[in-house]
Amino acid sequence: MTTPLGLYCHIPFCASTCDFCAFYQKQPQREELVAYLEGMRAELALHFGATKPVVETVFWGGGTPSLLLAKDMETLGCSVLDSIAGPPKEWTVELAPGSVRKDKIEMLIHLGVNRFSMGVQTFDAQVLEKLGRMHTPKQVDAAYTCIRNSGVRNLNLDLMLALPGQTEAQLRADLTTAISLDPEHISLYCLTFEEDTKLYLALSQGKIKRNPELEADLYTIAWDLLEQAGYEHYEIANFCKKGHACQHNLNTWKMHSWLGIGPSAASQYKGYRTHNVPSIQDWLQGVKAGKLIYRERTPITPDLLASDSLIFGLRMGEGLDLNALKQRFPQKNFDRYTDLWADLLDAGLLTQSGSRIALTRAGKLLADAVARRIMELE
Ligand code: SF4
Repeated sequence: MTTPLGLYCHIPFCASTCDFCAFYQKQPQREELVAYLEGMRAELALHFGATKPVVETVFWGGGTPSLLLAKDMETLGCSVLDSIAGPPKEWTVELAPGSVRKDKIEMLIHLGVNRFSMGVQTFDAQVLEKLGRMHTPKQVDAAYTCIRNSGVRNLNLDLMLALPGQTEAQLRADLTTAISLDPEHISLYCLTFEEDTKLYLALSQGKIKRNPELEADLYTIAWDLLEQAGYEHYEIANFCKKGHACQHNLNTWKMHSWLGIGPSAASQYKGYRTHNVPSIQDWLQGVKAGKLIYRERTPITPDLLASDSLIFGLRMGEGLDLNALKQRFPQKNFDRYTDLWADLLDAGLLTQSGSRIALTRAGKLLADAVARRIMELE
């Protein structure tokens, strides 16, 4: 079956490393950046050749795409547009508040970018400092004004919850500020402690502590505030105004196809899940020689795709339609989940309407545990 295709471009450059970040990124050097832009064109050619496929959505993430100069954005944007059948329906670019400039936003709009996503994390200056973020609340304000004054009407703000020392009052203040800015979309992720990050080290040394009960309360406060402000809770960590759900992420969560290009980019494409090598030099060496160097390459089995569709489908506000899933994966035995659905219904973690199941508010708070139970049944 052909599924819609999304294209992800990884821009692996950041001004500095945030304390919680485990993404592959480094500080840009001009020569390396120019070579990277050539490498991106070369990787696109390796995947697509002269076929120019229809790409529904494009997403530039990182790293910090907004660190690129406007002329570099033009180079990368033209490489993308030259490689695909026509302009994508949705094209998102991630921005860091400290590197937003009018000429960059104008260039992106000129290229056809129609969705912007700004990494705010929190509006609290002290908490930002604890996260090792480079920007200040003042820069967020300036960037927001610049983006809106350029005519952007589809903007996401990325926020974080359960930050070190964050109180209920601080979270409320963050969300109240975010809502007052009236963005079309808000992503709200819980801070995670990835190995090999400064925050993970602080956690393992006992310098910061997690508080699961407070985290659950923070989720409840945040979800209430956002829903009351008119945002649809369409995925566990994502909220939007009507018609502004992120199509690129929906395509991923629905387990369709996406191709990730650039060092460390992940793909689900042409029957394989792959991770490009997380090193600009190794990646460049490969694409220049006409071959892709992967850190990982695993065949996608229908079984794997079906169980991931269940796990990610249950994270959606609308839940998932079991009949549609059975039609998509006729070879999968879905009977193995019958007892699990019954348990979750009994525990008030799941609702069912016909063949559609969805997690309740209590179920969403336990979505990771539900996912583990699904995986145990594989
Ligand atoms: S800006 Fe984003 S990608 Fe860069 S270090 Fe910070 S969190 Fe990581």
